[in-house]
Amino acid sequence: MTTIKVENLSKIFKKGKTEVRAVDNISIKIDSGLAFGVLGPSGHGKTTFLRLIAGLEEPTSGYIYFDDEVVSEPRRVVLGPEKRGIAMVFQNWALYPNMSVFDNIAFPLKLAKVPKDKIESKVKEVAEELGLAGVLNRYPKELSGGQMQRTAIARALVKDPKVLLLDEPFSNLDAQIRESARALVRKIQRERKLTTLIVSHDPADIFAIANKAGVIVHGKFAQIGTPTEIYEYPATDLIARLTGEINLLQAKVIENNAVISNLKIPLKNVELKGQNNVVVGIRPDDLSLSDTPLDKYVDVGTVKIKLVSYGAGIFKIVVSPVADESVDIIVDAEEPLEAGVETHLLVKIGKIKVFDQSGNNLLA
Ligand code: ATP
Repeated sequence: MTTIKVENLSKIFKKGKTEVRAVDNISIKIDSGLAFGVLGPSGHGKTTFLRLIAGLEEPTSGYIYFDDEVVSEPRRVVLGPEKRGIAMVFQNWALYPNMSVFDNIAFPLKLAKVPKDKIESKVKEVAEELGLAGVLNRYPKELSGGQMQRTAIARALVKDPKVLLLDEPFSNLDAQIRESARALVRKIQRERKLTTLIVSHDPADIFAIANKAGVIVHGKFAQIGTPTEIYEYPATDLIARLTGEINLLQAKVIENNAVISNLKIPLKNVELKGQNNVVVGIRPDDLSLSDTPLDKYVDVGTVKIKLVSYGAGIFKIVVSPVADESVDIIVDAEEPLEAGVETHLLVKIGKIKVFDQSGNNLLA
């Protein structure tokens, strides 16, 4: 399998007189057999980074190595995409509409002039792996979204690539099948030990598949770590938002508490550096509503229920501190509560994130 190494990689696009630094001096190693996930806001360089790795763009500066071989160098793609042993799956799947599923999957092997009987056995093997054996004679327009996507993955895998590159592979799928599609890609990646790069704006895609992840902001990795590290210890408030739903609340610091109206949140393991104002970050699933104490939670004060909605198996409850109804806090709950009711807001101990006014995490 292949280790991908990137050294001081930059890509600058020129738009008239202005320059866009899409990828800005990135150095990173993706170990052989691992799945690396790239998250980031729109337009910050995720796709450009992936296209550089694929050999579809030449770097403005810097190097890319596949194992010890230079595959891209400044202003030159040394080894083209077809010679890199990569397979790519894009958002739109790009199936050939006038070819059957069999022929779509077989296409890369035909291009490579693989003998007919070998093509037949290989296509059948991959179709089996991806649950497509029953639809090989169908055409793309006769497939469900999930089957189309699996056909695109099968076509990508049929040449036994060493590296898998995925760009927003699940965003065209219905929410219900997205989950199983992620699980399938994860299984294949782990079983085949494919060095994988997955790019998505959806943290759920990254968390389902990646062993390690990075967040690209303005063409640079703002944070790299395991998905859990990034989710639990986001380096900035922006990263906290990109990795999942979070309440970001302006608070005053009074005697080692973050005070939001009548709510008092104890600050532990925080280097306040003399700040009087902080932003407290709490994910909705780290909050609970209860009139009685709960183990592993701290009661931070009385809130009033404003709004209750239901979706994807949980209730989203919007509450406000009783003394200031302009502050909204979202709480995930298993049970609904009536709007207007007052109760206590409880925060899971150890899950509070604290940022300074510039958005930097203050956790020690
Ligand atoms: P999204 O999530 O919206 O796909 P992204 O993070 O993948 O965004 P890129 O597509 O890599 O971002 O784009 C990064 C920056 O480079 C953007 O400002 C984009 O407009 C610019 N860019 C990308 N490709 C080109 C190109 N071929 N020519 C000029 N500018 C480009």
